[in-house]
Amino acid sequence: MDPSLNYPSDSDLRRLLRFEPHSGAIWLGEQRMVLLHTAALTTLRHDLIGSVGKEHARRLLTRMGYACGLHDAGFAAKTRGSRTLEDMFLVGPQLHMLEGAARVTPVQLKMNAAAGQFYGEFRWDDSWEAHGHRLHYGVVDEPACWTLLGYASGYTSAFMGRLILYKETRCSACGDDHCHIVGRPIDDWPDGDAHRQYFEDDSLLEKMAALSQQVEALKIGLKPSEPGDMLVGNSPAFQRAHDLMRRAASTQVTVLLTGETGVGKERFARALHVHSVRSGGPFVAVNCAALPAELIEAELFGVEKGAYTGAHTARAGRFERAQGGTLFLDEVGDLPLPAQAKLLRVLQEGEIERLGSESTRKVNVRLVAATNVNLEAAVERGQFRRDLYYRLNVYPICIPPLRERPADIEPLARHLLTRFMALHHKRPVGFSDRALQALSRHGWPGNVRELENLVERGVILSTPGGVIEVEHLFPNQPDAAHDGLDPQGRLARRAPQDEEALCERVLDSGMPIETLEARVLALAVERNRGNLSGAARLLGLSRAQLAYRLKREQSPGTD
Ligand SMILES: [Zn+2]
Repeated sequence: MDPSLNYPSDSDLRRLLRFEPHSGAIWLGEQRMVLLHTAALTTLRHDLIGSVGKEHARRLLTRMGYACGLHDAGFAAKTRGSRTLEDMFLVGPQLHMLEGAARVTPVQLKMNAAAGQFYGEFRWDDSWEAHGHRLHYGVVDEPACWTLLGYASGYTSAFMGRLILYKETRCSACGDDHCHIVGRPIDDWPDGDAHRQYFEDDSLLEKMAALSQQVEALKIGLKPSEPGDMLVGNSPAFQRAHDLMRRAASTQVTVLLTGETGVGKERFARALHVHSVRSGGPFVAVNCAALPAELIEAELFGVEKGAYTGAHTARAGRFERAQGGTLFLDEVGDLPLPAQAKLLRVLQEGEIERLGSESTRKVNVRLVAATNVNLEAAVERGQFRRDLYYRLNVYPICIPPLRERPADIEPLARHLLTRFMALHHKRPVGFSDRALQALSRHGWPGNVRELENLVERGVILSTPGGVIEVEHLFPNQPDAAHDGLDPQGRLARRAPQDEEALCERVLDSGMPIETLEARVLALAVERNRGNLSGAARLLGLSRAQLAYRLKREQSPGTD
């Protein structure tokens, strides 16, 4: 074996593997994994061969392995991007071992990434697949490590950016002591074409190409300001609100949209407008909370020239500008009381009076109001007119917060992903399993708007062609403690990064190690209110050891 092919430490890869029994999940980086019995997998393999035939089963299993290799290749640059090309490549064989496929020993490895040249030879000992195959079929004539070969091909192909075909020149399913594989670009194999069928038919690469074409097509057909754009959701609560909106659309009724900040009230209002007979007219939106109280009446009802100092020209208000269409008054609860009185008159009379004007003008406007405060309570407090409240609350639609419709989070996130991919000309292939889990667990205080911000940030931070990961969505979220593998391969509790970060902070602080120890001991004693046994337990020491150390500190230089 080439000495340069010694494996680097796999601690960087072991760190990727995390067991979270409390959430019922195992993770390799951002990908969800599952621990399967090889016996069960062997049975599945056997049934597959029995039901679809050897050739087809081989194709399916090769492609499954290929997909695994393809996913694992994503870790190479991520974990060892700053190392030599060999070290980076060896992520594949090392992960294959960590995942329990076989013991992999590199024999030869020659590659030139720029020229696309590759030659690799590896030895596999104890392949689970060869073992399983022999269990059912005895010693066979042809190599049988299809899943494993698929993995090697998938990993190396993704790494090299071209299809690399591996073949077994020896296989323990054929009675050999171990398996031996050779990998080269498929075109370099004289019979390469005959092997293409195992990869290319409906291959993942083709699917990815097809997906990017779809995205291209979507980009062309996508109108970012499409009003129904954000009305995505299948949950009953959301559907109820949507149904109420559609039924109100065909009438002239004044609609009051309620719901927390960020649930998408304006989008509902726009959708209502679009589905109404007024869709040919203007849609005018006003945020009552965004306008200073002294300007709001002029803004809504318009001004005549000279109505007040600074009113140099006559100006139409939003009501007039919405003529024949829909006026959306967001945060109507923030409207000052005098403006409330005028608004009520407009609703009753169907006419407005510009500021400084003696005459009235007829307006034909459908009003949609929205609030994230409880207007009834505001009425009780005397901050909102009761008569106006009754006038607005004819047809209330409550839009549920995102946390009450968790089933809608993933479809919404995917919908937003498509939108922001087009906007930012980036093409992440989707969300990692872990990112989706994090989205579904988040509390969403900012509702759909918050999701929108997170997905947009995720699209911007993701690597092109990669997936959106948790850290792209929640950059500041600390990593929770979980179980991983220690250097001996045993499951151990740890908070990754935390320990390292802690040590780094200690080093950066310049604190001498004695001082650090003294402080930690004192803190442990303090936390246990002077109880030395309790403090010792916390520190992983015996009571005597702790007492000794404390004493040593009180009288330095005496030991
Ligand atoms: Zn084999």
